Amino acid sequence: MTSMMILNSIIVFLVGIVIGSFLNVSIYRIPKGESISYPGSHCMACQHPLGRFDLIPIVSYLCLKGKCRYCGEKISGRYLFIELITGLSFVAVFLRFGISIEGIIYALFIAVLIVLTMIDYDYMLLPTSVIWSGVILGVFLRIFQTVLHKNPEYLISSLLAAALGYSFFYAVFYMAKLLFKKEGLGFGDVRLIGMLGIYLSIPLILLTIFISSILASIYGIIILYIKKKNEPFPFGPFINLGAVIALFYGYSIITWYLEIVGI
Ligand SMILES: [Zn+2]
Repeated sequence: MTSMMILNSIIVFLVGIVIGSFLNVSIYRIPKGESISYPGSHCMACQHPLGRFDLIPIVSYLCLKGKCRYCGEKISGRYLFIELITGLSFVAVFLRFGISIEGIIYALFIAVLIVLTMIDYDYMLLPTSVIWSGVILGVFLRIFQTVLHKNPEYLISSLLAAALGYSFFYAVFYMAKLLFKKEGLGFGDVRLIGMLGIYLSIPLILLTIFISSILASIYGIIILYIKKKNEPFPFGPFINLGAVIALFYGYSIITWYLEIVGI
């Protein structure tokens, strides 16, 4: 890495942790139907409004040793984790896609996935408003690429991938309901895979479905073994993880697989 790249990575990381701090607010407020801009941030325990020195991502948490300045109540380490993971993913996106309009959109896409993952983890819910934000952003990306590269393939292949992912999950959703009289997938998962299709091409959306099913099955078996009962768990986090793996390594994985089977 050149020193310029290191400097850029640091700047991207700092932008990432600031966005991460906003994602924390979104994850907390969106499922409750609260506004993400008003009122300003306050302590969850004592409701004291937070000043600007309480709101510096990562730094405030470390300086205050993870406690509220006003009431001393412990602040969940999860806030720190979300800020860090957002900062690091933004650096990964920058190194992969460069600082460009496309890079910025992919970074925002990862931000949408982080919000969806955490809300699904907390509430087994994928808010439609967040998914629609992802859809609009994705369509904008594809239209931008279509114009930039003067190639309608970008928009067409992404809409086909979205339609394929959506129909496939819709069929699974419908069949599970019909056969087992219960929902194996939530309808949020159906919408989510449709949204992801816009960002991923057909091979990558299929890979996402494959990876997420394997990861969720492994997780399900582990949970069954530990808790000794079949508890429902959210599928969204696995779909999102599969999508990120497919976005970064998808074509390498597919090439590797095709070499192994000798095609
Ligand atoms: Zn407090």
